Amino acid sequence: MGPIMCYADTTTETDNTVTAFCYCGWVEYGHTQESADAAAEAHQNAPDAIDAATV
Ligand SMILES: [Zn+2]
Repeated sequence: MGPIMCYADTTTETDNTVTAFCYCGWVEYGHTQESADAAAEAHQNAPDAIDAATV
């Protein structure tokens, strides 16, 4: 088993909120573009820590 490689991306919804998501199943809704980029970068760098911190 190797390290988990995540590649998170963002998409702008029709209501102008930004969703950050990853092919691994991680997703966060209701961001601004800035916070979505930050969340996506944080997820890629530490997916386990983000998962533990979510809720
Ligand atoms: Zn991921």
